[in-house]
Amino acid sequence: MYIVFLGAPGAGKGTQAVNVAREMDLTAIATGDLFRQAVERGDELGRQVKEYVENGALVPDEITAQVVLERMSSPGCRKGVVFDGFPRNLKQAEVLDTALDKKGKRIDWVVYIKVAEQELIRRLSGRLVCRQCQAPYGGQDGQVGSACPKCGGQLYQRPDDNIETVKSRLEVYFNKTAPLIEYYRRQGKLLEIDGEGSVDEVTQRISRTLRQQAGCGG
Ligand code: AMP
Repeated sequence: MYIVFLGAPGAGKGTQAVNVAREMDLTAIATGDLFRQAVERGDELGRQVKEYVENGALVPDEITAQVVLERMSSPGCRKGVVFDGFPRNLKQAEVLDTALDKKGKRIDWVVYIKVAEQELIRRLSGRLVCRQCQAPYGGQDGQVGSACPKCGGQLYQRPDDNIETVKSRLEVYFNKTAPLIEYYRRQGKLLEIDGEGSVDEVTQRISRTLRQQAGCGG
């Protein structure tokens, strides 16, 4: 099974993608996490993507596709994948369709998490993230430098979670990524989920919707 998580930065894709992957025994691939980890390591990939990631611009499609396709072909991904943050534009969506087609597979569902813009800005500008496991926390759940409750890693504020960069990331999302909503809706794959409310509430909405689709033979 292949599931794509679609939604603006701050919609909760990362958290929900991990939950769905665990529940359905799939592997989550989060391109943003892969890029940030490469930047932290300071390797060749990290040097190539650092500026884009820190400025909230999209990493070039060739680099992104290479990273994703390599990861998809690893043994851990055999049962299927939940994509978080990929594809981010039509070109990437086509690359993914072609790659899956070659394996005789396809995207099964696209979970589109909808959250109002004001709420996105509020969430992102107060967010802390674990440097190690990338888990996100609200500003009230910890402080910069404190330990991640999940893995003990250090919490920090992502350099692209400052208000200026948040605004340009939202602009990139509305211009380049949002057209994918129509792309997948036309294919009958889009599942629209209200992303407001607690993490658990949203998880339940997603699980219920995916179960209903499975029940319909989708
Ligand atoms: P995210 O963690 O999904 O918010 O991604 C953080 C940053 O990584 C983005 O602002 C981009 O610079 C880069 N990035 C992540 N996914 C992609 C993608 N599919 N295509 C291009 N750039 C990406």
